[in-house]
Amino acid sequence: MSKRNINIAVDGPGSAGKGTVARGVARKLGFQYIDTGAMYRSVALMCRRKGVAWNDEPAVAEIARNLKFFFGWDGDVLRIVVDGEDVTHEIRTNGIGRGASDVSALPLVRADLLELQRSLGEEGGVVMDGRDIGTVVLPDAELKIYLDADLSIRARRRHDEQLRRGEPVPYEQVKAGLAFRDTQDQQRDVEPLKQAEDAVYVNTSDMSIGGAVRHIMALARARL
Ligand code: C5P
Repeated sequence: MSKRNINIAVDGPGSAGKGTVARGVARKLGFQYIDTGAMYRSVALMCRRKGVAWNDEPAVAEIARNLKFFFGWDGDVLRIVVDGEDVTHEIRTNGIGRGASDVSALPLVRADLLELQRSLGEEGGVVMDGRDIGTVVLPDAELKIYLDADLSIRARRRHDEQLRRGEPVPYEQVKAGLAFRDTQDQQRDVEPLKQAEDAVYVNTSDMSIGGAVRHIMALARARL
């Protein structure tokens, strides 16, 4: 199938700003935004609901294979609907983030979601964020970004986000959780988090969201 437009892959560690930046770029370009982390988070949530352990590979893969995802805009909020249920907020807790990191290390689960993610990028016109988008899911993406930021800054951002949602978690706990998840994501055997050779490295430690979006828009325009 011939692509109608370019694809943009955005990878990097947790809370580097991938989602906000990818969403901003997608909106400016009129592209579709796909949050692959939300898919792993949804699998972790559904396992918890069904009493399936996050390391029970065949059972987790069975759940992953049968989930139906729907992403839709509701004003400025991207709603994530799984099997007809809106899980937008429920998948954002630290506990479910940890579960997402656990289930995402299982090869059968990755294989299930890979097929779906690739099909979403088939026609182009997609900004997809995750850990392995530039390396595995969309290796032919015309623009690949590796978005990074210092751990303490990422932890601060995640902590602020959780306080805004009314979850009073200690900062040190958020930081330790992020560090644990980064290490697990970078060291797993299957499709670990790593920068694609042809990705552009962008560090957002001292950059505003608007600045990062402008920077990536300039790179995207050069490829359109
Ligand atoms: O990006 P987010 O924090 O929502 O991702 C949750 C977890 O899902 C990550 O820590 C990672 O383990 C996993 N993930 C992945 N591959 C992706 C996207 C997310 O392994 N493409």
